[in-house]
Amino acid sequence: MPTDPVLVVHGGAWAMPDEMVEAHIRGVTNALAAGWRVLERGSTALDAVEEAVVIMEDDETFDAGRGSFLNRDGKVQLDALIMDGATLRAGGVGCVEHLRNPVRAARKILSESPHVYFVGEGAERFAAEHGIPLCRNEDLIIPREVEHLGKYQAELAQRDESHHGNDLFAPSGEDATISHDTVGAVALDRHGNIAAATSTGGTLNKAPGRLGDSSLIGCGCYADNESAAASTTGWGEPIMKLVLAKWTADRIAAGNLPEWSAQEAMNYLKQRVNGHGGIIVLNREGHIGIAHNTPRMAWAYKTVKKQEAGVVRES
Ligand code: ASP
Repeated sequence: MPTDPVLVVHGGAWAMPDEMVEAHIRGVTNALAAGWRVLERGSTALDAVEEAVVIMEDDETFDAGRGSFLNRDGKVQLDALIMDGATLRAGGVGCVEHLRNPVRAARKILSESPHVYFVGEGAERFAAEHGIPLCRNEDLIIPREVEHLGKYQAELAQRDESHHGNDLFAPSGEDATISHDTVGAVALDRHGNIAAATSTGGTLNKAPGRLGDSSLIGCGCYADNESAAASTTGWGEPIMKLVLAKWTADRIAAGNLPEWSAQEAMNYLKQRVNGHGGIIVLNREGHIGIAHNTPRMAWAYKTVKKQEAGVVRES
């Protein structure tokens, strides 16, 4: 018996201001439509999460692909992971600077490489050798983000002067008012398989070479048919320390519902390491969980019966 498909996407969790809500809801809804078309025609959950994430990487609203936050040197550095719950195959790229759609490169790694993870130049070489065109880093940078970085660095320099400290090199991302616009998707296909993908430009003003949670297996993304598919967003360092996507999947494997497990993950993130962020999860039975401990998170889901999108998810 074929399974009814389910798709859930997110576009970052933070204190998103009112004027940005519409663009975020439009963005996650477009991603949902693209992923759903894939599931409807009977293709895999893996294809669906890839297509949904590509749409959000191409949308400058989000911190993924073109329009991402800039690192301390004013460059875009991207991370992405995709994982197949049926086979546990995964593909990840970290710190890439010349790919418009890092999730496409991650997918090629999953499908065509004996390895799981490539970083920097080697990742780009792998992508180019597998037919993915490279772009210039400047092609990924937009004026909004140049201004965003300039303002943030000026604020830090000012704080630094009054504190005589070294705030310019403080870890970025610890403030929930700073945007966290990472994107992700989890899907269940007609064959009963689940998959997950996450893509990000990381945190604003991050140190060059800094890798966040998003592209690390079990931290920002995870999928196993025997537990759940999960994608997280938020301040990456605390999420990494808890291996939060896998932690959540383990709760589901132990018999808890995704809805409860997602909420527990957010409580755990806050209580254990004072972290903030959001998570989407989905199991093979089609149960979903959407939770965040930030004021807002852009999310959308679709089943054969229902479609919803929003920026606040009441628990
Ligand atoms: N988790 C991402 C990172 O720390 C940022 C985000 O979700 O916006 O790289």
